[in-house]
Amino acid sequence: MKTKHNSDRLAVAVIGAGASGLMAAYAAASGAGSAGRTADVTVYDLNPEPGRKLLVTGNGRCNLSNETVDPSFYPGSDRALLSSVFGRCPPAETLAVFAKAGLRIRRDHAGRLYPASNQAAGVREALLWLCRGAGVRTVSGCEVLSVRRSGAGFELNGSIRADRVIFAFGSPAAPGNGGTDSLHLLKDLGVKTEPFTPALAPFHLAGFSKLQLRGVRAQGSIAVYAGKKQLAADAGELQFTDYGVSGIPAMNVSIDAAAPAAAGVRLTVVIDSAPGAPPELPADAFSAAGLGDGDMPVSLFLNGMMPRRLTDSYMRIAGIGRDTLMSQTENSARKKLCELVRRASFAVSGLGGFNEAQVCRGGAAPGHISYEDLSLKGVPGAFVCGEAANVTGRCGGYNLQWAWSSGLLAGLSAVQGESF
Ligand SMILES: Cc1cc2nc3c(=O)[nH]c(=O)nc-3n(C[C@H](O)[C@H](O)[C@H](O)COP(=O)(O)OP(=O)(O)OC[C@H]3O[C@@H](n4cnc5c(N)ncnc54)[C@H](O)[C@@H]3O)c2cc1C
Repeated sequence: MKTKHNSDRLAVAVIGAGASGLMAAYAAASGAGSAGRTADVTVYDLNPEPGRKLLVTGNGRCNLSNETVDPSFYPGSDRALLSSVFGRCPPAETLAVFAKAGLRIRRDHAGRLYPASNQAAGVREALLWLCRGAGVRTVSGCEVLSVRRSGAGFELNGSIRADRVIFAFGSPAAPGNGGTDSLHLLKDLGVKTEPFTPALAPFHLAGFSKLQLRGVRAQGSIAVYAGKKQLAADAGELQFTDYGVSGIPAMNVSIDAAAPAAAGVRLTVVIDSAPGAPPELPADAFSAAGLGDGDMPVSLFLNGMMPRRLTDSYMRIAGIGRDTLMSQTENSARKKLCELVRRASFAVSGLGGFNEAQVCRGGAAPGHISYEDLSLKGVPGAFVCGEAANVTGRCGGYNLQWAWSSGLLAGLSAVQGESF
């Protein structure tokens, strides 16, 4: 990064002590020296403790990155922004920051990266240790309610003065862990914003409760449609609930469903419970039953493909008795069963709300963030990072990687950039 050597002292305020804010605070405090500056960095968070949401990531294990990161894993987000930030602060550079705090990384079978301890708490500890070492001051239990221009700098909450402000306030996802909508802070400074809507959220499906599948986990593929147009599809372990479907593939396709769902577009979810099986199954097996190789109970055949509770549910809905042989099933019941197994279709009654979502769409509007340094256009001295920068990634460590890379860049830019 290009630096300008000024020997001035900067007061840097970071709003939000989450993933991106802690990384930004560390970067600002540790990076000012190389620009011949000193920075007094304070990070404010409304929670009673910093980094609270980090603790629940990856089911407490914190999937903090992925071995492959590129803009294609962030559907609908600004690709040029992503390329610029990952080009300037690549994932390896952010992992090297964690290595300074002794954090070792392990890779799972799918290329997802976790702390070797498998504990999200270790990631938070590492960040807090780095921040303390760099002289960052952390103020918890302090909500920033207003940011106004004051001379060449800013005034927070009417009394806190800052030369630079980094907006790292995340999104309203997971309100129980500090998720809050603080977009008004940007709007008050004249920055155009897009409202937050839940993304990476489960689907609520009409009539799904009659399947009685709560708690079932099964391999499957899921596709979401607006009319006949497929918006997205993914496969993997689906998790069924009373009201619909969750799990990584469902969350991933929800990213593309978030905006149309919020706009009231009618959506349909189609589930294939035998992904990878030839398309003719199980229809062909029914046709062949009773010929040549003989016959078998429908339940036995289906149990070879999917979990027993899914078999029971689909057979009950198709009206096929528990011990019925394949050759004994009525044509209409066969048809219904085949449809349920390969193309179970449900109207989407809604996406899970903020309390069920992992991240949100929304934040500073595209075009209002400088690609080079994450400064907010028209607001000299202000920077944005993390979810507030309107970037949404798929499951797999992409959201935290965005938080690390954007936090690192925003923090360095705030102290190393040109004078404002
Ligand atoms: C259950 C769950 C599991 C997840 N698992 C993963 C995972 O395994 N891998 C992954 O990549 N991503 C995961 N995510 C997403 C990831 O947590 C977020 O993308 C990431 O935390 C965003 O970082 P951030 O810094 O933008 O926001 P946050 O980490 O949410 O931090 C924002 C902080 O700002 C504070 N704040 C907001 N407004 C104000 C204000 N006005 N004044 C003061 N403080 C304020 C909030 O209290 C919060 O602490 C998960 C999310 C959830 C909810």
